Amino acid sequence: MCVLCGLPTHTNHRLCSPCQNDLPILSQGCQICAQILTSNYTSAKICGACLKQAPAYQKIYALFPYQPPISNLIIRLKFQHDLCIANLFGELICERIQQHWYKDKPLPDLIIPIPLHKERLRERGFNQSLEIAKVIAKTLQVPLDYRSTMRIKATAAQSGLSALKRKINIHQAFKIAKNYDNLSIAVVDDVVTTGHTIQAFCAALQSHKAKKIDIWCSARRE
Ligand SMILES: [Zn+2]
Ligand SMILES: [Zn+2]
Repeated sequence: MCVLCGLPTHTNHRLCSPCQNDLPILSQGCQICAQILTSNYTSAKICGACLKQAPAYQKIYALFPYQPPISNLIIRLKFQHDLCIANLFGELICERIQQHWYKDKPLPDLIIPIPLHKERLRERGFNQSLEIAKVIAKTLQVPLDYRSTMRIKATAAQSGLSALKRKINIHQAFKIAKNYDNLSIAVVDDVVTTGHTIQAFCAALQSHKAKKIDIWCSARRE
């Protein structure tokens, strides 16, 4: 049954072909952070922010722009515990990895979902990024590590803070329990918004010896 319209699908797909064909397409953005490019970029298609300071990650790979019906699916996943949506995103990410993103390069050594603060985890009962990561790890047969990283600071109050305070706040948000001796890592996130959280998490991984980090996410908020 199609997760969007509820009509039966012919194959074992979670979306019927009309719904699948109607999904929004992410416009080609910055080669590093996937942010929409305005006028200020070089021919290499790298945005001003990434040029000014290269992020701790190599590249954000995003499936969709954060807009309906993708945003509705993410809300269903996060707040209505509809784990079927995690399967859908996981499967679509794998498809894209195999056909495009990593067609000509090796897969990472390890997959790590971005951790959720334990209070948030208690409220929600699960970490949606972990649920997506499980599907990907199983399909691609890449090891999954979700026990070595911890989010020690809830970041809900971020919006009321000044840019500087926000930076400091997020910087101390993660705790990493081990070293990733030269491993290449893919971090899975459901939605990347400003990129500050992912940047802070990747910087923490980097300071624990991760070699190269890519981000795989369902949606990029523009
Ligand atoms: Zn449909
Ligand atoms: Zn950028």
